[in-house]
Amino acid sequence: MIPMVDLQRQYQTLRPEIDAALQDVLQGARFILGPNVQSLEQELATYLGVDHAVTCASGTDALHLALAAAGIGPGDEVITTPFTFIATAEAIRYVGADPVFVDIEPRTFNIDPDQVEAAITERTRAILPVHLFGQPADMPRLEAIAKAHKLMIVEDCAQSFGATVDGVQTGAGNAFGCFSFFPSKNLGAFGDGGLVTTSCAASAEALRRLRNHGSSERYYHDEIGYNSRLDEMQAAILRVKLPHIDTYNAERRRVAARYRDGLTGLPVEVPFEDGIGVHVYHQYTLLSDHRDSIMQALQAAEIANAIYYPVPLHQQKAFADLDKRPASLPVTESVAARCLSLPIFPELEDASIDRICSTIRDALA
Ligand SMILES: *Cc1c(COP(=O)(O)O)cnc(C)c1O
Repeated sequence: MIPMVDLQRQYQTLRPEIDAALQDVLQGARFILGPNVQSLEQELATYLGVDHAVTCASGTDALHLALAAAGIGPGDEVITTPFTFIATAEAIRYVGADPVFVDIEPRTFNIDPDQVEAAITERTRAILPVHLFGQPADMPRLEAIAKAHKLMIVEDCAQSFGATVDGVQTGAGNAFGCFSFFPSKNLGAFGDGGLVTTSCAASAEALRRLRNHGSSERYYHDEIGYNSRLDEMQAAILRVKLPHIDTYNAERRRVAARYRDGLTGLPVEVPFEDGIGVHVYHQYTLLSDHRDSIMQALQAAEIANAIYYPVPLHQQKAFADLDKRPASLPVTESVAARCLSLPIFPELEDASIDRICSTIRDALA
């Protein structure tokens, strides 16, 4: 069986270091907001090139806390993409604001800046782009639109740790960057975890209060906050993995390049490489009019595959109550009907990639 991701392999390679780091946490017995979280936040800020890195309990919470720290709430609109994991838009609902879904670009699957501009109203407060599958959204254009209309940008970087645009890390160039350390993400913990980046000191303070019951001094609560802290075990694991992230992302790009070669000449659209920045291939996602035949052949050959995402958010029951729910977003719907993700992880061997490509080639013959 070739799996979508193989978390066991990465653990085995790093096992002595991870086991030692966990032993230290157990011996030190400081499990919440201890020395590993503090050091990790400094290391993340340095890697990402931001002034402040505030960890929290998940990527979903990172989005929620960022929107709360931004003061976005009832009556406000946040323009976002419908082609993403539900957490992106759930977070907008958590603060009582309305997600406004606009269509995506057909090649990058990311939010279309023209559609963003057309959707701006006097209620719009923020744009929430997702760097889907590790491919940066069109930040130069989104930033120009945000500036012209005085809007804030909150980036969903859950799938893009290490991706860059003009040398700037995703999540580093705007009001907030929101990351996830879910185990299968490019930089994954062994449980849930998240991060918000900002270069505004006041916003960083607000995030630190919000993640810890609205408290800046123990047992003094300035506002109602949340329990959303990264724990020391996860922080210790992430500190072992962070120095390897560039290698992991380079290996993902190796896998993607070999897929591209192996699938040349077939009636499938491979991921767009000439985008706005450096793609870190959280997923390797094809488009094909023959998706069912490819999936059947992969299943028969014991090769995992998945549809990310079969139902766009504007068609989800959870958003049925939105006043501004679009009747149809044709590009999104066409992509959702034809997309297929193949296995990709840093340790995936060339021989496995070749077997996956020849299985697809045979299925389309
Ligand atoms: C994974 C993911 C999230 C949520 O992260 P969690 O850590 O699972 O809460 C948000 N947005 C996108 C695009 C994701 O892929």
